Amino acid sequence: MSNIQKKTDVILIGAGIMSATLGTLLKELAPDWEIKVFEKLPVAGNESSNEWNNAGTGHAALCELNYTPEKSDGSVDITKAIKINEQFHLSKQFWSYLVKRNLIRNPKDFIMPIPHMSFVQGEKNVAFLKKRFEALSNIPLFEGMEFSDDPATLQEWFPLIMEGRTVNEPIAATKIDSGTDVNFGALTRMLFEHLQKQHVEIHYKHHVKDITRASDGSWSVKVHDLDSGQIETHTAKFVFIGAGGGSLPLLQKTGIPEAKHIGGFPVSGLFMVCKNPDVIAKHHAKVYGKAKVGAPPMSVPHLDTRYIENQKTLLFGPFAGFSPKFLKTGSYFDLIRSVKPDNVLTMLAAGVKEMALTKYLIQQVLLSNEQRMEELREFIPTANSADWDIVVAGQRVQVIKDTKEGGKGTLQFGTEVVTAADGSVAALLGASPGASTVVHVMLEVLEKCFPQQMNEWRRKITEMIPSYGVSLADNPQLLQEIQKSTEQTLGLVEKELVYS
Ligand SMILES: Cc1cc2nc3c(=O)[nH]c(=O)nc-3n(C[C@H](O)[C@H](O)[C@H](O)COP(=O)(O)OP(=O)(O)OC[C@H]3O[C@@H](n4cnc5c(N)ncnc54)[C@H](O)[C@@H]3O)c2cc1C
Repeated sequence: MSNIQKKTDVILIGAGIMSATLGTLLKELAPDWEIKVFEKLPVAGNESSNEWNNAGTGHAALCELNYTPEKSDGSVDITKAIKINEQFHLSKQFWSYLVKRNLIRNPKDFIMPIPHMSFVQGEKNVAFLKKRFEALSNIPLFEGMEFSDDPATLQEWFPLIMEGRTVNEPIAATKIDSGTDVNFGALTRMLFEHLQKQHVEIHYKHHVKDITRASDGSWSVKVHDLDSGQIETHTAKFVFIGAGGGSLPLLQKTGIPEAKHIGGFPVSGLFMVCKNPDVIAKHHAKVYGKAKVGAPPMSVPHLDTRYIENQKTLLFGPFAGFSPKFLKTGSYFDLIRSVKPDNVLTMLAAGVKEMALTKYLIQQVLLSNEQRMEELREFIPTANSADWDIVVAGQRVQVIKDTKEGGKGTLQFGTEVVTAADGSVAALLGASPGASTVVHVMLEVLEKCFPQQMNEWRRKITEMIPSYGVSLADNPQLLQEIQKSTEQTLGLVEKELVYS
């Protein structure tokens, strides 16, 4: 075992979509900076970013009902939906920039147009969906959204869901054609290929074990080379912890005050995947339902047309579950090891508060295959068990922290960027809306960690991402230009959009 000391400008930990995007942005903004990546697995994009480990929805709040909660006065709050939609536009603009410059090729290999629909049953849910539709459909960001409670129209929109269905209660759906299916695994791999060409050193099978402050203020990263068994120490002025579920333990090792009082709660997932080509051919949409009472927002059931390995396929889920691992390839001790003196009270408070979630997860873990089929039959009444297999999805580590609104030990369902006060280290925690908003989240990392460089970089960022710093909701003209250009570049034009 030897100890090798190496210096660099930037270290990215983890080869998922987050590090891939930050590395690509930095190479455009500061091409001379030396960047190194350490990934414990032999390839890029094989944890949460892998196409089989996430649902591949380009989250733009076109169909996800949990982004538009009902307020106590009965109105629908669309604030979050607007925010997420605008953030997805940032991602599409950056991907278009990369395609136009030939930095990545064949957008069809990572993004495909697919209608996004919401589907509900029961009088109360139909009334909610109608209100949601009325609140969103006049906003240019959601232009083209349609609502219907007519079974004949729904039959046209999703024949597989209507096949064999007895309609004895109100049902309704919304549909919008500008939705997408994103293969985040393929995109991650493309971005790492691009980074390799840009002379970024990417070290696979290198497991980061520790991060400590060096005497000159830079960071020392201790890395285990899994092939040679050597322990290496690399130093950098800036470290990004993009280790997905593995980010929290590494952030804790930095010892920065901002990492205190934060815990993580892992939620695992399963999808059902259809293996009957005739069934797959009958469906062409991502159809999101409404979460069951007590279910966490990320467990909203959905029936998705997906494009994986150049094939159209059909997935249903996710079913939530519990595993103490923070990564699919993690350890059963991950959860227990993440409990530290500074976060133990936060974690215990969350345990007491989240009894309903615990109960829900236990119920989900105990589901038999036939019970899962019953849930699927709420979407596809004619579903046959012989047509469906189970695939294990990625782990999501939900952030637990103390908040003003929720008090001690509040479970968070969003993503969180935690940075040191001097901006020398940043970590990405949390799961949803996740990869879809990656460009927005990585721009936040740049703003927090490189405030001095931002003045110089702003022009280039705006060239790459024209709506950077601008509200698209307030600028329909810019929205129209951007939408037209990204749809053309990324090949997303399934149907001509008509603007009023
Ligand atoms: C079931 C499920 C469904 C989802 N659905 C969607 C969706 O529909 N749309 C969407 O936008 N998002 C979705 N997400 C979220 C999305 O997948 C994640 O936000 C995103 O992939 C996270 O990317 P990442 O780069 O942070 O992490 P990852 O892709 O997990 O990458 C982290 C990398 O770090 C490596 N690593 C970890 N620890 C170390 C270490 N100590 N040393 C070296 N390397 C290390 C890992 O091996 C891994 O390769 C979903 C997630 C799940 C689990």
